Amino acid sequence: MLFFSSPAPPPRPEISPPGQAAPQEVYHYEEPAGESWLRLDRAIYEALRGAGVAAGQSESWTDIKEHGETARLEIELTPRQSLTEVAERLNKELRPAGAGLSWQKQTGFWHLEIYLDSQLTHQINLRQTEENPSLPLPPPGPGKPRAAIIVDDVGLNKNALSQLLALDLPLTMSVLPYAPDAPRAARQIKERGFELWLHLPMEPLGGSNPGPGALYSHAGQEALISLTRQALTKVPGAVGVNNHMGSRFTQNAAALAGPLQVIRENNLLFLDSLTSPRSVAQAEAGRLGIKSGRRDIFLDHQIDEESIERQLRNLVNLARRQGQAIAICHPHSATIKVLRQNQAWLKNEVEMVFASQLIK
Ligand SMILES: [Zn+2]
Repeated sequence: MLFFSSPAPPPRPEISPPGQAAPQEVYHYEEPAGESWLRLDRAIYEALRGAGVAAGQSESWTDIKEHGETARLEIELTPRQSLTEVAERLNKELRPAGAGLSWQKQTGFWHLEIYLDSQLTHQINLRQTEENPSLPLPPPGPGKPRAAIIVDDVGLNKNALSQLLALDLPLTMSVLPYAPDAPRAARQIKERGFELWLHLPMEPLGGSNPGPGALYSHAGQEALISLTRQALTKVPGAVGVNNHMGSRFTQNAAALAGPLQVIRENNLLFLDSLTSPRSVAQAEAGRLGIKSGRRDIFLDHQIDEESIERQLRNLVNLARRQGQAIAICHPHSATIKVLRQNQAWLKNEVEMVFASQLIK
């Protein structure tokens, strides 16, 4: 099913092999997830693989709470796999990664809580099934669950954009206002029937550079309002705004006030990219009567195809649990490749829609 109205399908450009035609990137994509968390997450999947647990035997999703995000995993072992062996493998691999492990044997399954610096990072349920393991997925309700994928940081890389525009998925593209090509990218995105958003750079907590024109908490309201207006002129026709970085700025209700006013004046939607679990941006937008939402999952915090595919399955699982889910990804070549390889599967599992359709 083609979602765009243009009569002819767009040409599909050749994809450059890895390492070739690398885009010249000056600024970082998003704020990186903590290196120790990533190491731990990788170690969990390596331990499971080492214990012979196949990808299809686990279902995972993310819980977002005040203290941060907790990854949840449901794992079903076949009658031939040993619960004790899998548990031992997890213990062996995870302790050196600096994790604290707490096991509880419940009726019918084992529950594992994993801590990093006394923060609960992962919860895993391990259970053994009869002959045909089936994951405890909730049955689909009436109609398919809906999912949207927002591609952030668009506009810096022309080659990546043309590959994205050749995908047969209703992607929502969020363009950085300082990208030299932003207005042209904006026009192309709209002409090809994709949804256009403004990716508004905001102050992060760490040392990452959000780029020129970013909103900083210390700037006065007048400056913040003017920067937001300028950014909008660079991405004409955007229907919504989400934050680029911003883990510090989105915690500051007073600083958010002016930019959110501009968003309201322009009748735009707002999506909190949720780069900090302590963000108040969605709540503040809602208070001002702006239609708003928040990101549920990042697809490519780990830029490798296996991890991105896993996150794509998690997006589908989340959509089934919640009825809908919103993912954010970036124009990495690995991400684009995984999207291309999985677009038919994705559209079969869920109804793929634009972000604006999931925002209330
Ligand atoms: Zn970004």
